[in-house]
This record gives sequence, structure tokens and C-alpha cells, in this order.
Amino acid sequence: VKGLPHLSDGSLENGSQDTKHLRVKLVLLGDSGVGKSCIVLRFVRGQFDPSSKVTVGASFLSQTIALQDSSTVKFEIWDTAGQERYASLAPLYYRGASAAVVVYDLTSKESFQKAQYWVKELQKHANAGIVLALVGNKADLDNLRTVSTDEARAYAESNSMFFTEASAKTAGNINELFEEIAKRLPRGQPSL
Ligand code: GDP
Repeated sequence: VKGLPHLSDGSLENGSQDTKHLRVKLVLLGDSGVGKSCIVLRFVRGQFDPSSKVTVGASFLSQTIALQDSSTVKFEIWDTAGQERYASLAPLYYRGASAAVVVYDLTSKESFQKAQYWVKELQKHANAGIVLALVGNKADLDNLRTVSTDEARAYAESNSMFFTEASAKTAGNINELFEEIAKRLPRGQPSL
């Protein structure tokens, strides 16, 4: 994919060209059960509710954050809505995304391996300048951890990704994750 992100579904039509107020498509990727929906609900609604699922289909949740320089970023967050079972998501899912968060469960080695698969998919299909983050979720379950911080950080660094461990349950590092992504978004050009 070349150049600026293009929008295909009309959901971000009439997006602001103001570089101080970005609208950003962010896609979530990761194995089923790692906590993607819980991360979104924590960020958007400030809640941890494992039984509540983000709406399936073409809809998404959005949340605006303000940075210290008074600029704002409106994240329009796309969850995989269960499609992670399939070998590859539709290219539509990646199209126009300026940020991607790849999530694994730090108590599941398998989910960490799956995260590496999703990173490769992103490198193949996503916009060249996309901001990539790797998140080890369920940091509250440190006693059950099977993926070390060092191992995950080294992997993230070698793929030019921002890395953090977080917990949708306790809210640890969830807002910080999105703030860091917001800071890393390229400025000086329209987001859309
Ligand atoms: P998704 O399939 O990736 O969207 O995963 P969900 O958001 O549905 O979460 C799967 C399960 O993991 C939920 O039932 C939650 O109970 C649990 N979960 C999600 N985030 C956390 C977390 O930070 N800590 C703990 N202990 N459990 C979590």
C-alpha cells in the first residue's frame, strides 16, 4: 500500500484535515481470548466487563484523547470480531489503518507466537508508515506468566514496534498505550 491511507468504507468521510486534530483508524489483532475486547472497553468506557463483547461487523468504538500540546487524536478502533480464526483477514480490515495494536496474553506462549504471525501479516498488508504496538495483556496474572518481558521487548524492538505490558482488568498501562500511539503518529500531514 502506497501513500496516505485511503478509506474504503465511508466511515471516516469528511475527516478533518487539521493536523492538530487527527482521526485515526486503529486495528486490533491477536489470538481469540487474549483480551482485545476488554482492552477496548477499558479504554473507551473505563470498565472491565468480560461478558460484554464489542459489536460485531462493520461498526467500531471510538475514543478521543487530548495530548499535552492541546492536540487531539480520535481513535476509531476496529476489533477483529472473531475473524482471527481465519488464516487472513480481509485487506479491507487493514486498509487506511494508521495504527495497529497486536495483543498477546502473557500467560500464553501460543498467543505470543500468534502475535508474531499477525505482525508479519501487518508488514505485508498495512500502510508502510503504520504505528505498530505489541501488548502483553493480563499483566495482573504475573504469577502465571509464560512469556518474559525481555523476550517480548526484544522481539518488538527488532520489528520497530512500541512494546508494553498491560492489564484490561486493573487498567494498568491501557490509557498509556493509546497515549503513546498518539504521540508516535506522524504529524505535519493530514491523517486522512
Ligand atoms: P478477545 O477474544 O481477544 O476479544 O478477548 P476478550 O476481551 O473477550 O477477553 C477474553 C477473556 O480474557 C475475558 O473473559 C476476560 O475475562 C479475560 N481478560 C481480558 N483481559 C484480561 C486482563 O487484563 N486480566 C485478566 N486476568 N483477564 C483478562
